[in-house]
Amino acid sequence: VRELSRLLGPGAVLDGDAPAARPYLHDATESRAIEGRAGAVALPETADEVAAVLAWCYDHDVPVIPRGGGTGYAGGAVPLDGGVVVTLERLRGPIEVEAGQWRARVPAGAVTADVRRRARESGLFLPPDPGSAESCLIAGNVATNAGGPHSFKYGVTGAWVTGLQVAMAPGELVELGGRTRKDVAGYDLRSLIVGSEGTLGIVTGAWLRLIPAPAMALPVLAHHPDAGSGCAAVAAVLAAGLQPATLEFLDEPAAAAAGVDPPAFLVLAEADGAHEAEVVALRDELAEVLGAGARRLETPSERRQVSELWRWREGVSLAVAARRGGKLSEDICVPVDRLGEALAGAREIAARHGLESCAWGHAGDGNLHATFMIDRDDPSEVDRAGAAAQELFALALRLEGSVSGEHGIGAVKRAGLAAQLDGPARALHERVKLALDPKGLLNPGKKVPVAPP
Ligand SMILES: Cc1cc2nc3c(=O)[nH]c(=O)nc-3n(C[C@H](O)[C@H](O)[C@H](O)COP(=O)(O)OP(=O)(O)OC[C@H]3O[C@@H](n4cnc5c(N)ncnc54)[C@H](O)[C@@H]3O)c2cc1C
Repeated sequence: VRELSRLLGPGAVLDGDAPAARPYLHDATESRAIEGRAGAVALPETADEVAAVLAWCYDHDVPVIPRGGGTGYAGGAVPLDGGVVVTLERLRGPIEVEAGQWRARVPAGAVTADVRRRARESGLFLPPDPGSAESCLIAGNVATNAGGPHSFKYGVTGAWVTGLQVAMAPGELVELGGRTRKDVAGYDLRSLIVGSEGTLGIVTGAWLRLIPAPAMALPVLAHHPDAGSGCAAVAAVLAAGLQPATLEFLDEPAAAAAGVDPPAFLVLAEADGAHEAEVVALRDELAEVLGAGARRLETPSERRQVSELWRWREGVSLAVAARRGGKLSEDICVPVDRLGEALAGAREIAARHGLESCAWGHAGDGNLHATFMIDRDDPSEVDRAGAAAQELFALALRLEGSVSGEHGIGAVKRAGLAAQLDGPARALHERVKLALDPKGLLNPGKKVPVAPP
């Protein structure tokens, strides 16, 4: 603490045991009560200070745990066993939107929703829209390659990053890419850092590509009698060559928890675009395709109704958690044509473990939040949910999917990743990790744990 304070100045380093450090020792990991311990929490204000902290840690063989908004669902920002938490929240310089060039230079500590709002003020759009946008940071989104409903049409965070500034071991700042939209010159190290969850370097700034904001968006909400009918409707949208901005689903128990009466398997699509006629035409086509087999169809068009619908959608997670006081949710991902099998499999797992379950998520991406609704005060239920979650990972892999489509691996899903990677792929991951972090000090115990030679 004393030495880091000398580097960063007074008030920029907390003793890990101090009450003020407590908020930096956990993230949003649910139902798992994961809390770490740190020697110190560093709050640098500039990229150079971040690099200086990393250099000090590398010199002294001290682990470094990068931290954004602490909204992660995988324990990635939790210091598992001491070290220095480096929080990026004070790297809050201006968000520089270059409107005419559809791009922005963003400091690591910018809150995602602020970046999206600044883009909007210039008539531009940053599509990745994680549900945590009001509290997560851009660097955290880069580090987890975060997505959201709009990822169906527009892709996840990595698709919007043209450049990164990263503090790399043993403590130097590296520029990977920049403001140029196309750059195939070197290895694509930018993409390597995206989604690396703080295990390869510390992101200190990003260049983001933006697009002109869609002028309007119109949703379609189809109430299907069951998962079979709902999944067939999702498949029919793809088969018809329609491209909504979002293609979401909620199964019947999720819909019930979110106040839909009578409960139904809901499919929610949204058409967006630059011209009203084009958007209305796509919305009508979506309504026709999603309406086949549906019990009811809603097509709200007033701005107020549309934003109410999305506010309701954003509240689904909280509503589900409120049902029994807690939940354990995993963000497995499967090929879209196997979504129905994944839903049936998740229900079967829950029933076998005597758990209430539900699922919702990004149907168009095959990404489901398979969820067990639990009473956190019932240790047996918490244990059974943990065991059931492991089976969800096996289910995803059996269906040729992935153990994580959104939240990453962090500390809690390492076994899942180990199962997903075959021997050569795992060895390649380990070689990359050791090449960029030879002492294994960057976020140890996360994603790809390796023992340094
Ligand atoms: C209510 C809620 C809704 C959510 N909805 C979504 C969603 O729709 N889609 C989605 O993808 N996720 C979602 N999440 C999960 C989470 O918000 C995302 O993973 C988000 O990208 C994490 O950002 P953060 O700034 O909070 O990072 P943190 O939680 O602080 O860190 C996450 C990981 O990134 C690493 N990291 C953080 N900053 C840096 C940095 N500067 N350099 C290197 N590594 C770094 C950390 O070490 C950690 O491994 C949700 C979470 C909540 C609580």
